[in-house]
Amino acid sequence: MDLAAPPSQLPDSLRLRRHLHIGGQWTSPADADLIDVENPSTGERVGQVPAGTAADVDRAVAAARAAFPAWSATTPAERSAHLDRLHTALTARADDLARTIAVELGAPLKLATRVQVGLPLTVLRDHVALAADAPVEESIGNSLVVREPIGVVAAITPWNYPLHQVMAKLAPAVAAGCTVVLKPSELTPLTAYLLFDAVSEAGLPPGVLNLVPGTGPVVGEALAGHPDVDLVSFTGSTATGARIMRLAADRIARVALELGGKSANVILPDADLATAVKVGVGNALLNSGQTCTAWTRMLVHRDRYDEALHLITAAVAGYRLGDPFDPTTRLGPLVSAAQAERVRGHIDRALADGARLVVGGPDAPVPARGHFVAPTVFADVHPDSALAQEEVFGPVLAVIPFDDTDEAVAIANNSKYGLAGAVWSADTDAALAVARRLRTGAVDINGAPFNPLAPFGGYKQSGLGRELGVHGLAEFCELKAIQR
Ligand code: NAD
Repeated sequence: MDLAAPPSQLPDSLRLRRHLHIGGQWTSPADADLIDVENPSTGERVGQVPAGTAADVDRAVAAARAAFPAWSATTPAERSAHLDRLHTALTARADDLARTIAVELGAPLKLATRVQVGLPLTVLRDHVALAADAPVEESIGNSLVVREPIGVVAAITPWNYPLHQVMAKLAPAVAAGCTVVLKPSELTPLTAYLLFDAVSEAGLPPGVLNLVPGTGPVVGEALAGHPDVDLVSFTGSTATGARIMRLAADRIARVALELGGKSANVILPDADLATAVKVGVGNALLNSGQTCTAWTRMLVHRDRYDEALHLITAAVAGYRLGDPFDPTTRLGPLVSAAQAERVRGHIDRALADGARLVVGGPDAPVPARGHFVAPTVFADVHPDSALAQEEVFGPVLAVIPFDDTDEAVAIANNSKYGLAGAVWSADTDAALAVARRLRTGAVDINGAPFNPLAPFGGYKQSGLGRELGVHGLAEFCELKAIQR
């Protein structure tokens, strides 16, 4: 079999992974079917993993169930020590992880290193402390209120941040005393294999963390509908999230859903426009626009609209498309041919709907090989149009003018989503007042940094529940009231 990508990019040990990780062992799947893993920068196959089945899911859930009584009885300090060992084992693999993500996702190596790997390592380190220190009991009147681990967790994750989306579930689940079966995205499973190499090395008790790769309709549905799964923690599209709720509904299983977004970046007239545009464009294009929190609608006061469009054009010109391993590359390809095709469809639709193309578009040059789409900006986008309403999940920015703050808030809230957002103003009190009016799970004022200890999640169709920090930990717990 011909597997492309030089060993300097993808470790040979990752190319052919024929096993699942169940009950602390690398074990053969029930079927011999394999899933090809592609390098989206070249379109070449670079690896293969098993296509798990419902029988594999049964085995993995049984292992997680068997491990639960002993694991849930460990002390917070013991669980913290396990997470600390996992952090050490994963840190030792940081370079391999970054190169693997650059290959199977197409993320530029610098982004893969700093964000795709750096952030989940921070999240894991935070959970070493959270596992040990987060309060598990409180007194309310004559009640002792106890937090207990929820049980067996099915973690189903997307491809866009293949390590972070997994870590945002695994770390709190382990910290809380739950056991887990992970199904990573079929597009980026190699990263999860490296993680489970670290899990093996860290010596977590058998069955606490299990890995079953495979497709959504087979492994994902078997997990979401499994009678012995207590919580389905899902990150992905809103359509799949709705399907998972239905599968979990019959047995009233808990669901935690991190879904899509169409976040607004509100630039008030007194803002530092150069900074607001530079950071706003960077946010919209991060990871080639394949970021759920991307500020894909830029709302600019009409007094500064033309000035903003000039600044946007100049900023986008600095985003060079290319090979993720070339240090001058700022944007990689989209993850797959299907994703690139979907994004091109959104661009064509926006043109047909009368939006004004400012940069990029269908005829802009892109590398000959790979699933590249040029960064594209539309101005005069109608707030009700498809481009302003639908998640594109590619490097496409919609710019919308407004005349006053009330109108800006109304446009920002005119969305079925509510995941993230931003406000820019020289007057931070005014910005805070606008932030409070946005129906969304997070708002950044004047480019304030991401806080991995703050609750992360969405209003409306952007999801249900929160990840990260103490609030994320609570998603993996039940509450018991003991009256005395
Ligand atoms: P997706 O919904 O297609 O797939 C996500 C995961 O669900 C994959 O592992 C997939 O195999 C699985 N899946 C697919 N169909 C399934 C089914 N019927 N039953 C069970 N599992 C199934 O999403 P994607 O294309 O991988 O990711 C992109 C989407 O994820 C975007 O909409 C993006 O906004 C969203 N996302 C949200 C967040 C967040 O935190 N809110 C973060 C990242 C991505």
